[in-house]
Amino acid sequence: MIVAILGAGQLGRMLAIAGAPLGLRCRFLDPVPDSPASHVGEQIVASYNEPGALARLISGAAATTYEFENVPAATASYLERHGHVFPPSKALEIAQDRVLEKQFFRELGAGTPEFAPIDSDPDLAGALARMGTPSILKTRRMGYDGKGQALLRDPRSAGAARRSLGSQPLILESFVPFERELSIIAVRSRTGETAFYPLVQNEHRAGILFRSIAPAPGLTASLQREAEAIAGAAMDALGYVGVLVIELFEVGGRLVVNEMACRVHNSGHWTIEGAETSQFENHLRAVLGMPLGSTAARAPSVMLNLVGSTPPLGALLEDRRLRLHLYGKEHRPGRKIGHVTICDADGASLAARAERAAALIEASTVLSA
Ligand code: AMP
Repeated sequence: MIVAILGAGQLGRMLAIAGAPLGLRCRFLDPVPDSPASHVGEQIVASYNEPGALARLISGAAATTYEFENVPAATASYLERHGHVFPPSKALEIAQDRVLEKQFFRELGAGTPEFAPIDSDPDLAGALARMGTPSILKTRRMGYDGKGQALLRDPRSAGAARRSLGSQPLILESFVPFERELSIIAVRSRTGETAFYPLVQNEHRAGILFRSIAPAPGLTASLQREAEAIAGAAMDALGYVGVLVIELFEVGGRLVVNEMACRVHNSGHWTIEGAETSQFENHLRAVLGMPLGSTAARAPSVMLNLVGSTPPLGALLEDRRLRLHLYGKEHRPGRKIGHVTICDADGASLAARAERAAALIEASTVLSA
């Protein structure tokens, strides 16, 4: 059985690897030749809006899905007219625009930061007068890994911040004084069955995910319930199919939605070793309408990203139970080139092993040029 996937990055690579034991073959479309997924599946090298390439991609496929979010709307609607495409384009449309996304979660009754669309200096002055500082000015579209945003500490810096983001639609968000960042990895199958992984705690460096701890330390049943209620309501409202990840802030014991990703997510990489079924396998099961696999954690896990360059692998692999994933990408500052996962039922041992790996990884991390 063939699954067609737009994008051929590391997420596609891990989808293909997860699909192999299920007898699945993944076929990818990506304009960049020799992409990470091409080492484990067929890659069609063409732009996302070339109808001939899209036709070849989906020919004979049981389902079509995405491994990145910024799929052009025209491409999504072409695919929807010609095949079984999941998640639905409506979900992508909302996730691609921070204003629509926040309105969507507001309407569901979930907590979000205060926000206002910004198209002019008077818009910004009015929103700042209402929200005050600190606040965060972001591009409405195409933001990722903390790019396209400016923290406003002083209203006087607003004009310069707006100009630094260029003449494009923006959003101003109130700054959430969060205690920690969490994410819920949820999945909904074509049959309507849903499942949720335990909440993950995430830590960023320069806007890039550095460490995920799963389950989140001190996770309570009520926090997990609250996150599942938000994700479940979002998936039901969208008729969602596939993995959906919602990034959350925890503040005063409650959850505030930051954003959603309509795809498998970096904060779910721990599930490959740390959960009974990985997010990648469950995404494939979901888009094919198969029963979902158990989302229970096998053991507490820590995932660390390798960014910009690899640490000394000999030293890293001295921990015989550490699992290394390299994506076959060229090393570039700020680029995710791999990750490691450490699972351990013993909390003290997990902390010590994760700290050792983190020290090696941090010393070789290159966040910017
Ligand atoms: P984003 O690209 O929107 O996920 O933002 C990147 C990072 O900036 C987040 O992971 C947070 O650490 C921080 N951030 C974004 N929005 C807010 C907010 N409204 N309040 C506080 N911190 C934020």
